[in-house]
Amino acid sequence: MAKTIKANIPAGELNQKWASYKAQAKLVSPNNRKKLEVIVVGTGLAGASAAASLAEMGYNVKSFCFQDSPRRAHSVAAQGGVNAMKNYQNDGDSIYRMFIDTLKGGDFRSREANTYRLAECSASLIDQAVAQGVPFGREYSGYLKNRSFGGVQVSRTFYARGQTGQQLLLGAYQALMRQTETGKIKLYSRHEMLDLVLIDGKAKGIIARHLDTGKIERHGAHLVVLATGGFGKIYYLSTLAMGCNASAIWRAHKKGAYMANPSWTQIHPTSLPQSGPYQSKLTLMSESLRNDGRIWVPKAKNDQRSPNQIPENERDYYLERKYPSFGNLAPRDIASRSAKEQIDAGKGVGTLQNAVYLDFAHAIAEYGKDVIEQRYGNLFTMYQKITGINAYEEPMKISPSAHFSMGGLWVDYDLMTTIPGLFAIGESNFSDHGANRLGANSLLQACVDGYYIAPYTIQNYLADEINTPKTNINHPAFEEAELNARQQLQQFVNCKGSKTAEEFHKELGKILYDKCGLSRSESGLKQAINTIQQLRDEFNENLLVPGDVEDINSELEKAGRVYDYMELAELMCKDALSRDESCGAHFREEYQTEDGEALRNDQDYAYTSAWEWTGNPSEPLLNKEELVFEFVKPIQRSYK
Ligand SMILES: Cc1cc2nc3c(=O)[nH]c(=O)nc-3n(C[C@H](O)[C@H](O)[C@H](O)COP(=O)(O)OP(=O)(O)OC[C@H]3O[C@@H](n4cnc5c(N)ncnc54)[C@H](O)[C@@H]3O)c2cc1C
Repeated sequence: MAKTIKANIPAGELNQKWASYKAQAKLVSPNNRKKLEVIVVGTGLAGASAAASLAEMGYNVKSFCFQDSPRRAHSVAAQGGVNAMKNYQNDGDSIYRMFIDTLKGGDFRSREANTYRLAECSASLIDQAVAQGVPFGREYSGYLKNRSFGGVQVSRTFYARGQTGQQLLLGAYQALMRQTETGKIKLYSRHEMLDLVLIDGKAKGIIARHLDTGKIERHGAHLVVLATGGFGKIYYLSTLAMGCNASAIWRAHKKGAYMANPSWTQIHPTSLPQSGPYQSKLTLMSESLRNDGRIWVPKAKNDQRSPNQIPENERDYYLERKYPSFGNLAPRDIASRSAKEQIDAGKGVGTLQNAVYLDFAHAIAEYGKDVIEQRYGNLFTMYQKITGINAYEEPMKISPSAHFSMGGLWVDYDLMTTIPGLFAIGESNFSDHGANRLGANSLLQACVDGYYIAPYTIQNYLADEINTPKTNINHPAFEEAELNARQQLQQFVNCKGSKTAEEFHKELGKILYDKCGLSRSESGLKQAINTIQQLRDEFNENLLVPGDVEDINSELEKAGRVYDYMELAELMCKDALSRDESCGAHFREEYQTEDGEALRNDQDYAYTSAWEWTGNPSEPLLNKEELVFEFVKPIQRSYK
């Protein structure tokens, strides 16, 4: 039977909740900390910061990632910046304003208390990162520079040129390696988590596969933290790296962790467009470019002229026209949908007519090429390397692409899932961003979860575990989980069909993009569910995986990830179908205002969907966490 679930939010005023949580959280004495073990899966900003912080506190940490080095976690790809409320610009920023921007940006579908805490903790991050040596951009005077991202009217984004994620990750990686050197962290690179192990209902370990040898291993601990990133790669064509996956969270879901709002995916407006059928990845051009770039399409349909030949009065700067207050800095969901509208109306540009222009001519005329080069030089170089076009001379072509999962494992205020002892942090959880994430808030969330929140909440949990002995990896629960994992891998290899996992993934991605992407409809979603079920049956009968289980085998890795995507994809469509409203990135064609904006229904849908696994991927159970707006009254979102 469906349940109503509670998030364990502390009582009290919004700005006192986190302070009072910290003041009352249980502690573990240093002598006991060294007896306790923690598994952290993931070494991106969330995982590396959590692992390093917990090890600094004296806990024994086992840190896992599937890449060959922790610093290759996908956080490395983040370009544009990280938000923090410092108000260096004296432009009216405050914790409250940042909280409101984020809540409104997410279309009032996030928890007030979590969103406020994100803004509250943001200020500390910049000081910490600077102390670690993160080279944020600076003014001539030496002060840190800021720029704006979509959905806000202040400048609160700190950046290190177009490599903010990489630089922040190097900071977290140093902290991780410092503790690896002291022996408090044991690092397991090239290890993929295959399953979660529960003993007496609590998360106590994982089954992992060593990707270089194929060996299957058991690892135990007093609790498990998942920091395994986002699953936007489910759409196949996306801005995420090929290896990004949902497997760790999906397998935890199948062990009892609820999945929240799985269909809320951010489609980023400024990716490079698809240019042919053989692409497996789309490259992001950072949102920061929208600070100075102006987005437009030709007013005439099917205009074949080169952009520089199209005079000003024949261009439609549609975001500036539709959203005069925010213009080119309208939030991502709105900017992406507007681009789709133009493309669908036949005004798309480029060979496949699937793009819009992002033009720097005005900014170059106003500030000079040198300034634009200083701000975005590496992005312009990257653009030229990929497309052969010099964007100082001709507008970039950009297009919407799958980018970020607002959905993920459901967690309470402690960032604990519905499985005791299983925590989910960073992009792998659902919290903070509601139905649409504001740009530069994700690096922030990953860091804040790992550096500032998890160390308190995890310790609060571990305080009750101090008398629990080390987890015995010979326990029958480990035997069973290992056996199941082995059998599944063997099944993939034994199938000996004719279609690769990649081919299935590509088909699945297209179904999702068309029916559960930028816009959704009841009939489209029903159709998609049907097609996904058929594709899943075909996958089970016709998969081709060459090689063996006990060996290096990248095709086998892909098969496992695509298998999980097949089940998750159906849940995404069911989630989208269950919500008869539009909110943020979830745009149901049946529910829109007269001028085509998302039409929310707070009366019936002011809740977080928390789906429970029932053993059958086609019959998930919907539980709800009611969203209570105690401090802010939700309003119709407007950026006009
Ligand atoms: C191209 C791009 C640009 C971006 N730019 C920005 C930006 O400018 N600002 C911003 O705020 N956000 C940005 N984002 C979003 C942001 O980068 C991510 O949301 C954030 O970095 C996620 O961090 P994370 O630690 O949660 O996960 P990740 O950094 O993705 O790390 C995931 C970790 O989990 C591990 N892992 C996953 N599955 C398994 C498994 N089964 N077994 C073992 N290990 C596993 C991986 O090895 C990796 O170590 C961008 C995203 C992309 C794709």
